[in-house]
Amino acid sequence: MKISIVGGGYVGLVTGTCFAKLGHDVTLIEIDPEKVRAINKGMPPIFENGLENLLKQNAGKRIHASTGYESVTSAEIVFISVGTPPKPDGSANLSYIESASTSIGESLKNTSAYCVVVVKSTVPPGTTEKIVRPAVLRAAGKTEEEIGFAMNPEFLREGRAVEDFLHPDRIVIGSSDPRAGNRVAEVYQDIEAPVLRTGLTAAEMIKYTSNAFLATKISFSNEIGNICKNLGIDVYEVMKGVGLDPRIGPLFLNAGAGFGGSCFPKDVSALVSLAKDAGEDLILLRSVLDVNERQPHRMVVYLENRLGSVFGKRIAVLGLAFKDNTDDIRDSRAIPVIQDLLDKGAHVAAYDPMAGPVMQNVFPSIEYASSAADALRGADGCLVMTEWPEFSRLDKEFDLMAHPIIIEGRRILSRNGVEGICW
Ligand code: NAD
Repeated sequence: MKISIVGGGYVGLVTGTCFAKLGHDVTLIEIDPEKVRAINKGMPPIFENGLENLLKQNAGKRIHASTGYESVTSAEIVFISVGTPPKPDGSANLSYIESASTSIGESLKNTSAYCVVVVKSTVPPGTTEKIVRPAVLRAAGKTEEEIGFAMNPEFLREGRAVEDFLHPDRIVIGSSDPRAGNRVAEVYQDIEAPVLRTGLTAAEMIKYTSNAFLATKISFSNEIGNICKNLGIDVYEVMKGVGLDPRIGPLFLNAGAGFGGSCFPKDVSALVSLAKDAGEDLILLRSVLDVNERQPHRMVVYLENRLGSVFGKRIAVLGLAFKDNTDDIRDSRAIPVIQDLLDKGAHVAAYDPMAGPVMQNVFPSIEYASSAADALRGADGCLVMTEWPEFSRLDKEFDLMAHPIIIEGRRILSRNGVEGICW
């Protein structure tokens, strides 16, 4: 099928590359010319396992990137995967969605074939119907007989995005009429997964609800972890016993420094905000966010309990990405921790296998070490923020520290004397 995808970020690029692998003819429309150049050379501007190989195999053949919307005129289906970042009040900023919709509509003005516009970005319920549809139809000067609309939320996890896209747990397709939904289903016909057909707003709400539930599991585990630490109980033993209950399940029960990334914090905030507009106060989800905001600061408190003031001390921070296998630092729990350390006058020596260069935009003046050993050399304390597999293999590198005070925010070290945030 001829597919255009507007937005060549994490979701758009992974989606487009995987659709190309499935044999579709894909054009990525991306406003950032640097990204377009890189994608056309077969070099993904982001790191994702397996993405570079797939892109190299298909770039210039089944996938092209462009800053222009020309491909939309011949597309059978157009996906929107632009960002929906949070506004200062927590609600979703839909301006990128709106402007992409208008550009798509303008490109469909003079076409005659039926085309379906699909929202893949995470958007508040009602967005496809009340913002995307009118913007596209208005700019195109057409009716819904000529352009169909669907909502197809994305559930991929960064770091495992290609694998998740090709082997999803489910494919959710929301549409207001079956014809539009059928076309979306056709694109996925070679992927084996349960397909759930819903209305537009239910599809939008499924994505927010999934993320809110997973975030709740994490904050819940962190609260239990905090009290377990206090009582001298191993929260990982506790959660192992709890997770064996099939009604609960074993995943997302790992207590630690909290959730980050481009989705959970922003999507839970957006849900709280849209509920407020609807006259509902989501007390539980507000607390989920509250626990998550407080959690990383405990790392610094535990460090100070052992070390005393961090003023003038060299503190190694291992891990900057919000999780392993990605260079994404959006809402990474390392950010509030580093800010705390800087506010208290510490010298921060940071190391991450991938995310150092991106973090330089946030903290230009901290030290970026080129290895964990370099960060640890002479350090008075160490905070482990990301579950990178290479950190779990560290051992004698810790002997380079001036004071072997190690606090981990993810349970990955087996060395004696390491203190965990919740254990
Ligand atoms: P991103 O910021 O990585 O990518 C968005 C891209 O869209 C950027 O490259 C930007 O330059 C481009 N863009 C913005 N306006 C444009 C326009 N008018 N025309 C063309 N390109 C435009 O964001 P992302 O992480 O890919 O997320 C996209 C959406 O998918 C968000 O709503 C997010 O919540 C959702 N989502 C993300 C993930 C994830 O793990 N990252 C998972 C599921 C869903």
